[in-house]
Amino acid sequence: MGTLIDATRRGIITEEVKVVAEAENITAERVRERVARGLIVIPRNISHQIRPVGIGQGLTVKINTNVGTSQDLCDPDLELKKAKLAVKLGSDTLMDLSTGGELDVVRSRILKEVNVPLGTVPIYQTFIEALRKNRSIPDVTEDDMFNTIEKHLKDGVDFITVHCGVTLEAVRLLVKSRRIMPIVSRGGCFHSAWIMARDEENPLYKNFHYLLELAREYDVCLSLGDALRPGCIADSFDNLMNMELLTIARLVEEARGKGVQCMVEGPGHMPLNQIATNVKMEKYLCKGAPYYVLGPLPTDVATSYDHIAAAVGGAVAAAAGADFLCVVTPAEHLALPMLEDIEEGVIAAKIAGHIADIVRLGGRASSMDLEMAKARSRLDWKTQVRLSVNPEKAESIHEFVKSPSGACSMCGPYCALKIIRRYMKR
Ligand code: SF4
Repeated sequence: MGTLIDATRRGIITEEVKVVAEAENITAERVRERVARGLIVIPRNISHQIRPVGIGQGLTVKINTNVGTSQDLCDPDLELKKAKLAVKLGSDTLMDLSTGGELDVVRSRILKEVNVPLGTVPIYQTFIEALRKNRSIPDVTEDDMFNTIEKHLKDGVDFITVHCGVTLEAVRLLVKSRRIMPIVSRGGCFHSAWIMARDEENPLYKNFHYLLELAREYDVCLSLGDALRPGCIADSFDNLMNMELLTIARLVEEARGKGVQCMVEGPGHMPLNQIATNVKMEKYLCKGAPYYVLGPLPTDVATSYDHIAAAVGGAVAAAAGADFLCVVTPAEHLALPMLEDIEEGVIAAKIAGHIADIVRLGGRASSMDLEMAKARSRLDWKTQVRLSVNPEKAESIHEFVKSPSGACSMCGPYCALKIIRRYMKR
């Protein structure tokens, strides 16, 4: 059976392409052509009914929210509430990164109850279930890895993170490196530990052709994970990070050759002045493949405010061409996020995405800002609230101390907008 890419390469405008084009207010032909070339991905799975979301060139920036249980806080109901809250607030996709309790539960409940593309990192389940059975990391077999991947695909997951770029050669260099934080990627650390212990090539890299066969069978999107992303400012932009990106660039070409959708994951922690360069490198080396960034965090010390640091880094990355932002919450580096952390993180990422869209798309994105400016100018509070990134919060702040002047309680009767209008006779 053919994939979405195969169909678009035959000139077919599929239902997914139509929905994305309508949502983005661009022509279906433009979306079709970019899907065919791998510049846009529409994550999907043949057995999962969702509202299609396009990620990539010429589209609005999309955001993803991670949910999932941990060993120390395993409450699937809470994770489902987080997933639903994130989507209500505007998260375009979700990833289930569960590592605690019954690992199939959150995934299957989100697939059933939430109508957005779902991503997972199947390798977590492979290693966690092996460790629970008192097997050690090197005891895990290649079959174990591929069986879990197939299980997730069969269940209906729309995109999977696969750490194929962390090769035996890269791990040997990592061992000799002076990195302060050798690896901060959970999936990347499982793979690297396995590679080190067995001194063997990464099975997902070695058998990438088989991974592509599986991805084709379910027509899912691969998210090529950055196992070696820098975990602190001091480690940013080193050889390891760039070596992995070069490997991933080769894999992107292979995936495209087989008609499999793929995107590329990026940093991580990175100083602000390196972010645009990194995005341009990804776009150049991976020939325009959609870029999914995990932050980037331009400082290491924003702990408990990392959502703000990530919004700064994310806006710069997306304005430079990154297409997909992963939500970072105030709990990042500290704990499993709670509902209020998810709310703060999603709103911050949405703001970052919109700031970038004004740069990427011009009037297509900034028309909302113009409408807001006009509403502000005429002191139209209802419209201002409606256009706000978080209407409920905007309304509650405005209503808290109401001014009888019709302006807001900041200047009240001395509202600059009111006074100047009177004298300008407008
Ligand atoms: S009262 Fe002051 S802050 Fe409020 S709308 Fe008027 S000028 Fe702006």
